[in-house]
Amino acid sequence: MIYNNNLELIKLNNHISYITSTDVPLSANVVLVNGNDHVWMFDVGNHPDIPEIVNEFNRDGKKVNAVLSHFHPDHIGNIQKIKFDKVYQGRLTFKHTGLGDITESDIYIDDGGVRLHIFPLPSSHSKGSLAMEADETYCFLGDGIYAMERLEEKVYNAGLLKEEINVLNTVKADNFCLSHREPFITPKEIVIRHLEKIYGRRSKNEAYIKDC
Ligand SMILES: [Zn+2]
Repeated sequence: MIYNNNLELIKLNNHISYITSTDVPLSANVVLVNGNDHVWMFDVGNHPDIPEIVNEFNRDGKKVNAVLSHFHPDHIGNIQKIKFDKVYQGRLTFKHTGLGDITESDIYIDDGGVRLHIFPLPSSHSKGSLAMEADETYCFLGDGIYAMERLEEKVYNAGLLKEEINVLNTVKADNFCLSHREPFITPKEIVIRHLEKIYGRRSKNEAYIKDC
């Protein structure tokens, strides 16, 4: 369904859909999961039309929970515009939202047959990132696999990148979903191979690896 020229709600399966990202305003992909008790959002985006799309998706008026990948405004901008039952996020994100709980270890939830796995993702892009696996089929990563800006360069922290590869290898889902990317889904093995290639370029004593 197309809501305006650049915002779409796309179905992944019977209970999972996502809203596409936009450049103006900068707004990340928003994932909507229809559980038995709750509608779950992975990231809440920053586009002003998103709250209305969530209402239409949530026809039964269920309570809404949010999982926030990291604190950047394109991912959390709508946090005050939707009423949430629970908010899951890393410590640094909580500093920006002041709402909900801090998640620092794996959480497994079964919401009427919809299985969610929320977990901390070591990431160069942002400290305290979270990722979410659904149905052991899709893994939503936000901006977690991207580099960070440092002194006008894009770089990866070598230690974090190694930890990130290790964590991603344990994920069961084969479909990795990267925010701001078209197509939204990239196979797990391609994402891991890409990160391993970057890690392979590190030089011995340097803590940072340039993105290219
Ligand atoms: Zn970001």
